[in-house]
Amino acid sequence: MNRLLLTAAFAFTSLFVRAESAEEIVTEESVKRVVAEALKLVEAETGAKIDPAPSAKIAGAKEVAAALVEELIPQIPLLQPSLPEDGRRAAAEQMANLFGASLFGKFAPGTNTIYVVRDNFHLLGDTAGQPDLLSLATFHTIVIHEMVHASDHARFKAFDRISTLKTAEELHAWNAILEGHAQYVTSRILAREEGGAAHFEQFERIVGAVPPGVTGGERMVLELLNSLSRFAYHDGLAFFNALEKSGRKNFVEEVFRDPPKRKDVILHPERYGKPDEGPATKDLAPLFDALKKDRAEEWNAQLVTLSEVEFKTAVGNLLPAERLAEALKGFHGGQTLVLTPKDNPGRAMILIGICEMEDEAAAGTLFDLNADLGKAKDEKFKTGGIRITESKYGELKVEGAAKTIDARKTLDVNGQTVKLRDSIAAVDRWTIEVAFSNEPVKKKEVEALVQRAADFLRGK
Ligand SMILES: [Zn+2]
Repeated sequence: MNRLLLTAAFAFTSLFVRAESAEEIVTEESVKRVVAEALKLVEAETGAKIDPAPSAKIAGAKEVAAALVEELIPQIPLLQPSLPEDGRRAAAEQMANLFGASLFGKFAPGTNTIYVVRDNFHLLGDTAGQPDLLSLATFHTIVIHEMVHASDHARFKAFDRISTLKTAEELHAWNAILEGHAQYVTSRILAREEGGAAHFEQFERIVGAVPPGVTGGERMVLELLNSLSRFAYHDGLAFFNALEKSGRKNFVEEVFRDPPKRKDVILHPERYGKPDEGPATKDLAPLFDALKKDRAEEWNAQLVTLSEVEFKTAVGNLLPAERLAEALKGFHGGQTLVLTPKDNPGRAMILIGICEMEDEAAAGTLFDLNADLGKAKDEKFKTGGIRITESKYGELKVEGAAKTIDARKTLDVNGQTVKLRDSIAAVDRWTIEVAFSNEPVKKKEVEALVQRAADFLRGK
């Protein structure tokens, strides 16, 4: 429902109150006051002076996007390693424009400034379908959150660390520390204010929310993009809450000095600081190195670590959360090799993913989840800009596999036809998935590829 309809509906009830406008809430005067308040509150909560204190500014989406570009450029090689160096600025600009249109506040470490993006404030009322979110209370909450970033930068040079990170995995884990700590301090401050706990809960719902007007395939794509920010904000907050509960002293200093390097540590705080941070898994490097070599002439390769976060992203709300939780119980780890053509990275993609589970039964459960997910997508993508127009399911002949599924789909992506072959096998305690997108492949080739991975995993 759009804002206008919602407001109109409220007008017919006795509960109708006129929602304030962004221009009434965010003024030169209110920014000064709200920022000065936030400074005092964050200093008192953290016990650390914010020196130098940040300045504050009402800014347009374009100005914030420009500030974001400089921050994003060093992150692009981690997020898109196969992109040539001269394409990084354009990629950063594209991302910055996307974010700039949906951010409400932004701490810019380069200039020690908190930007208040008044142009976007109307979205507060639309996004979560709650017009009362467009309020001074939400503005107050947003500025506290940004002030914690300013505090972490003054105390720990937190934003300088980004340029020292080596992989996307480290970057996502570090983002969860930055956003998780900002949410942690914000929640503690609000808990002491009247109605603050409820405001914080409302504020949490804005993160990763997709505006109600967006539907079908576009909605799915936005949900995918948003799930990483949900991980950073929600799971990052849970990480700090768990460390506090464990009774650990000085855990904030400790985490900023020696941050977790993997996403699964954020999801399992008990693994933080242990020499062996997760369950031991089979080293897949010999297999992936050989697969990379085979196609090295024409394809760029990138290795992506799989964690529970990727599964949450992939499943979204297509299957019940309990099923996902059940399937992830026995999850030990996984990696996906992503191959893209050197001459035109956007043309096609080949994925080879392997997940290691606790035992054969757990691998079967994950296989079933993936199989059902594929079918749920057929239903979900019947309409919209991205449509699945045809799906055929068969099986593969793979020695040693308990179950296999071989799906061939035809997609319509904004008028362009794309063929996808997505095949999965459960082999002992592993699942193997091979996907060819817009790259022709014969069943025999897929079978040979899956067999090769299966033989490697079983030590043959
Ligand atoms: Zn933040």
